Amino acid sequence: MKSKNYLDVIFLEEPIIKRKIALMVNPQHKDDFIERTNHFKLRTTLILRDVQWVLDEQVVPENAFNPHSNRWTYIHTLEDIYKWLNGTAVNHTGITKFEAIGKSAEDRDIYAFSIINPLKDDSVKVIIEAGTHGNEYIGTHFTTYLINQLLNSTDPNLVMLRKKYNWYFIPVLNPDGYVYSQKEDRLWRKNRRRTEGKSIGVDLNRNFGYKFGLYDASSEPEHERYHGPSEFSEPETQVLRKFIDRKRDRLTFYFSFHGYGQKIIIPYSDSTRHLGNFHEVQTYAKQAAAKMESFAGHKYSVGIPFDLFGKRQSGDSASWVKKDYHVPYVFTVLLRDDGSYALALPNEQLLAACQEMEIGFVELMMSTPRNMKGNTFFTRARGIRISVLPFLFIILPMLIMV
Ligand SMILES: [Zn+2]
Repeated sequence: MKSKNYLDVIFLEEPIIKRKIALMVNPQHKDDFIERTNHFKLRTTLILRDVQWVLDEQVVPENAFNPHSNRWTYIHTLEDIYKWLNGTAVNHTGITKFEAIGKSAEDRDIYAFSIINPLKDDSVKVIIEAGTHGNEYIGTHFTTYLINQLLNSTDPNLVMLRKKYNWYFIPVLNPDGYVYSQKEDRLWRKNRRRTEGKSIGVDLNRNFGYKFGLYDASSEPEHERYHGPSEFSEPETQVLRKFIDRKRDRLTFYFSFHGYGQKIIIPYSDSTRHLGNFHEVQTYAKQAAAKMESFAGHKYSVGIPFDLFGKRQSGDSASWVKKDYHVPYVFTVLLRDDGSYALALPNEQLLAACQEMEIGFVELMMSTPRNMKGNTFFTRARGIRISVLPFLFIILPMLIMV
């Protein structure tokens, strides 16, 4: 939670007992702050002396196709990301599509980038959502990296994954928040909803139609986790709902990539128990986490929000997709780091963070059942498509009787 008090301390996350927390202190209050924390016997470590400098270094203005730069060692502007995605689609005509799928609160385009197999229209679908929180650039950063790897890598696993599935990416679901975070307030997380002439913003990952407003969400517009006036009140969450509705058939994998925490979160966000196919999914996620840790020693934890944060949540995209569309493999993934640099992940770590997540992502995709035919079976209750499987159960006993 971003909140200020008399020492101008800004918490970068909600304080929870017995957990490490990142916060920023105004330099003029530094000595007071240390004195206070010593008084309460709280242990503090200085991570960054000049946060603004690191944040300023993160974003480069324009270099969509600069051949001399490594694209994934810098964070990019929204304009540059869209330019790059458009150019990438042009370079891979026939199997890619870059299309505007709706508008944000401030009338910016929200785009989807697809990689599809034109000869196999019935492939299983993967949807990847990122950039839902304006200040968590790393999720969008990894998403564009993954698009690039799927299209250009010669790694046999990535080539196989590209051909096997139909891929749909929404790299920046919250373009207004992304721009506002880069231009005005680096810590801005919400969208840019206006009410009575004021931009108050809604936390989009509390606005989806799953147990709306129940946990870890506020009805106070000024709050960092304001859930909005009603579920799906925001143009951005509506755009995503409309898009997923169109792609629901055979939708089997759903990923929501976010900023720091190093966690693979499995639904359901409001539960204190492990429900549905949690144990199966957890096995794959733990394998992925182990692979990632062996890459550079960064540990990723796996579980439901209650396991990982000690609290319940609601209104998140992952739980809503899992529940409403019966998608078997749904993950909310928090990339680097563990909270040491928090949102100010140094540029030297950006590419490594992507490579590390790529290893985990490929492992996760490869370890789920190979003969996966999509969730046709799961959606039959909604009248989308009737699988032959139920009929087998009916016919067999009759044959035995004869
Ligand atoms: Zn987030």
